[in-house]
Amino acid sequence: MFERSKSPSFFFSKKERETIINKIKHAELKTSGEIRVHVTGKKPDDLYAYAIKLFEEMGMTATQKRNGVLIVLASKLNHFTIIGDEGINNVVPQNFWQDVVESVTPHFKQNFFAQGLCIGIEQIGNKLIQYFPYEKQDVDELSNEITYS
Ligand code: CA
Ligand code: CA
Repeated sequence: MFERSKSPSFFFSKKERETIINKIKHAELKTSGEIRVHVTGKKPDDLYAYAIKLFEEMGMTATQKRNGVLIVLASKLNHFTIIGDEGINNVVPQNFWQDVVESVTPHFKQNFFAQGLCIGIEQIGNKLIQYFPYEKQDVDELSNEITYS
């Protein structure tokens, strides 16, 4: 059985990483929104506040439409949060991410982290279509690679 490391860069197996990155690529074929995943080994008291700080530090605001989405997973807390940029927040209803959180959480509770993330990424892609449809001249504005801290 795959022994899951709490160390952020080894939290996912190689195969899981590839699956997640492919999910991101696939989602970004539906929307101009840019989705990233970050795994942190830190245990911030307020993961949401930490994720907002990361959002800035990672240059997540460097999209033309300000439609970047960051999923931060805290490997030692088995917890995650989702941050969208202001271009998204300005046009979507409040609690826009709530149903994504609700579909991912049960998978996390069963320690199916990669599976949960993939479901979340797909759902984020589908939700963004309405506001930020894919455009023919789309550029991959933010790398699809997973980052770690
Ligand atoms: Ca893009
Ligand atoms: Ca991307």
